[in-house]
Amino acid sequence: MLSLIDRRKLSRSAHDFIDENRLHSLLDLRVGPERLDDVIAKSMSKQPLSVDETAVLLAADRPEMVEKIYDAARRLKQDVYGNRIVLFAPLYVGNECTNDCQYCAFRRSNPDVVRRTLDEDELRQQVLALERKGHKRLILVFGEHPHYDADFIADCVRHVYATRTGRGEIRRLNINAAPLDHDGYRIVKEAGIGTYQIFQETYHHDTYRRVHPADTRKGNYLWRLDGVARAMEAECDDVGIGALFGLYDWRFEVLGLVAHALHLQKHYNVGPHTISFPRLRPALGVKLHETHLVGDKDFKRLVAIIRLAVPYTGMILTAREPAEIRRAVLGFGVSQIDAGSRIELGGYTEVGDAQVMEREQFELGDIRSLDVVMRELLVDGYIPSFCTACYRLGRTGEHFMEFAIPGFIRNFCTPNALTTLMEYLVDYASPETRKAGEEAVRRELEKLPEGERKNQLRDRLRRIAESDERDLYF
Ligand code: SF4
Repeated sequence: MLSLIDRRKLSRSAHDFIDENRLHSLLDLRVGPERLDDVIAKSMSKQPLSVDETAVLLAADRPEMVEKIYDAARRLKQDVYGNRIVLFAPLYVGNECTNDCQYCAFRRSNPDVVRRTLDEDELRQQVLALERKGHKRLILVFGEHPHYDADFIADCVRHVYATRTGRGEIRRLNINAAPLDHDGYRIVKEAGIGTYQIFQETYHHDTYRRVHPADTRKGNYLWRLDGVARAMEAECDDVGIGALFGLYDWRFEVLGLVAHALHLQKHYNVGPHTISFPRLRPALGVKLHETHLVGDKDFKRLVAIIRLAVPYTGMILTAREPAEIRRAVLGFGVSQIDAGSRIELGGYTEVGDAQVMEREQFELGDIRSLDVVMRELLVDGYIPSFCTACYRLGRTGEHFMEFAIPGFIRNFCTPNALTTLMEYLVDYASPETRKAGEEAVRRELEKLPEGERKNQLRDRLRRIAESDERDLYF
C-alpha cells in the first residue's frame, strides 16, 4: 500500500500526538471571566499557551469575552510584531500530483484541470515578472509527484535566486511541497531555502482518511504529521504548519495546530516559524461539504485565538481571503500576507485580470495588485516590509528566538522594514503609493528614539533614495 512508510525514515520524535478524545473533551469546556483573564495574562506575558489554555479561549464565546480576546490579540500583535506586515508572493511551479485530495482541483482524478510544470525559462519569466513588480520574497508551490523530488526543488530554488533584473532580486524563497525524508530536506536546505511549509490540512483522523485516499502518499497521516520534524532534524530550522479550515470543526483544528507547535517546541526547543490558516475555497470539480465551513465571525475568532496561543509564531493570511476580510483580521495578529498573487501556472505573464479556474488549485479571494495592497496597508498605518535579514544572517529557528527579545523590533525589524519599503517606493511604487509611503517613513522615523541606530537608518534611507545602493539591512 503506497501509504506504508519505512519507520526508520521518520524523525526521532515521530508519534501521533493528536489525542482526539482529549481534544474533543476540551471543546465542552465552560469558562468564567476570571479563568479567561488568567489565560490572557499568560499570553500577554508572551508565553505560549497549552492546549488546555487555548481551549479556554475557544470556549469564551460570549460577546464581551470575544471582545476581550480581540483586544488582547491586537495588543500582543503590536507588542511582538509592531505594525509591520511582511509581504510575499506565491509561485506555482508544477501541478502534477499523485494524490487525490477531495478538496483540491489538482487532485489526480480531476480530468478538467490543465496539467503543467514550468520549464527553466518559463520559471525565469515568472520570477522576472514578480521582480519587476517589486517582490523580494516568494514561496514556490509544488504538487506531490516523483517529478518534484528534492533535486528538482533545489534546482528551481537555485534558478530563482540566480534570476535578477535591474534592482530586482528574490532574497528569500520559501517552499510549500510534499514531506521529504531527511536527505531530501538536506538537499533543499543546501540550495538556500527559507521556510519549508507542510499543512496537515486536518488533524481529525476520520476526516483526514475521508479526504485523502489510503492508496496515496498523502493518505499516510503520520508521515505528513512528522514532516516538519524531519525537516528540523535536517537543519531546515524554519518550518511552517497549517490547517485547511472547513474540513472539520475549526475549534478542533486550532487545538491540533497548537498541539503541533508545542510538540516541536518540546522536541526541538523551537516552535514553527509560521502558522497558516487558509479557509476552504471553491475549486474546479470540487464539491464543498458545508458542515464545517467557517463563517467570517468564527474566522476572526480563530485568528485572534491563534495569535494569543503562539505569541512568537508568524501568522500567514493569504489571498484566499477577500480583501475586506483581510483588512478586518490583519490587526488581530497577522504578520505576513501575499499580495499581487496569481496562482495559475504561468499566471504572472499569461493571464489577464480574470482568474482561470482550469489552471488554479482553488479560487483566490483577492487578486489586487501589490501596489494597491501596499497603499491600503500604508493608509491603515502598517509598514509593508520585504525584510529578509534574519534568514540571511542565520537568525533562524532557535537562534531567531534569542533575538525576539524586547528592543529587537526597534533596532532591527522596523529599520529593515523601512529600508525595504524605501526601495519599493523609489523603484516600483505608483505616485499615490510613493506619497503614502514617504509619509509612513516620516511617521515611523519620528517614533524611533534618537541615537546611533536612527542616524544609521536615516543615512541608509537617503542612500537608497539618492543612489543605486540597495539591500542595506541591519
Ligand atoms: S492538495 Fe496538494 S497533494 Fe493534494 S491533490 Fe492538491 S496538489 Fe496534490
